[in-house]
Amino acid sequence: MKALLLLPLFLLVACKPAAPTAASPASGKLRVLSVNHPLHAFASRLGGDAIEAVFPAPADEDPAFWQPDDAALAAFQQADLILLNGASYAKWTGKASLPTARSVTTSAAFKDRFIQIEDSAPHSHGPEGEHSHAGTAFTTWIDLSQAVQQAEAVRAALIRLRPDQAAAIDERFAALKGELEALDARLLKVGERLAKAPLVASHPVYHYWARRYGFNLQSVLWEPETVPDAKSMAELQALLVKHPAKWMVWEGEPAGESVAKLEAIGLRSVVFDPCGNQPDQGDFFTVMAANVAALEKAFP
Ligand SMILES: [Zn+2]
Repeated sequence: MKALLLLPLFLLVACKPAAPTAASPASGKLRVLSVNHPLHAFASRLGGDAIEAVFPAPADEDPAFWQPDDAALAAFQQADLILLNGASYAKWTGKASLPTARSVTTSAAFKDRFIQIEDSAPHSHGPEGEHSHAGTAFTTWIDLSQAVQQAEAVRAALIRLRPDQAAAIDERFAALKGELEALDARLLKVGERLAKAPLVASHPVYHYWARRYGFNLQSVLWEPETVPDAKSMAELQALLVKHPAKWMVWEGEPAGESVAKLEAIGLRSVVFDPCGNQPDQGDFFTVMAANVAALEKAFP
């Protein structure tokens, strides 16, 4: 008699540990890991309190070429949602085993519009070692109409995992879309004003941007923090013979000495930061707003 009374209690205790695990995907915060800052910014903004957004790449590395260590890789593998850029961004994702069911390739909707880069010399910047930009161009989000589509993919993924939050996510998405579309319209106007005047970019990361806004752009392989040497200046001047640009577009604030060297040969400098990594201040949205304002100032 005594044993029978104890049995239900035993079963209750034995079953208990399973309960929180079973409940966690439907309640509690979703852990959302992103491969770059723009996707992290979209997730943070759209998910609000429903998610814990994590972007593990270090501040001093380019997330496009970063290789996560074992701990960072495990964090990605255990996430509730993994936001991938696609278009060959974050080379490590092509080699790592990531759970397909919990991964979303945010550029999938426009994959037939990817740009292939034929020639790009190997070079290095930052601690990731040497790389080349040959293959699929990956800075998809600086065509802000593509950024909206990537944010749309994030929105759909979040709603699929948190259908009860759909109204709030939709409302935040409408605001985000409106903001990016306003910036996109201003960039289209800059493109019209430039009317195919030649521009030079400091690094080959602007393909989608140039296509969307009609910029006539050629690239060198320079870094904002590196002052160009005589060889780099000679290469630039050879390019300027056939592509007589008056402006160089930089990924970040260039060294004062670089600006002076360019001004000496008739080139002015303007920054359009692709913002692949977490900026020192603000986020993707404030950086894009500053980028657009800088271009409008340069090309009024
Ligand atoms: Zn590079």
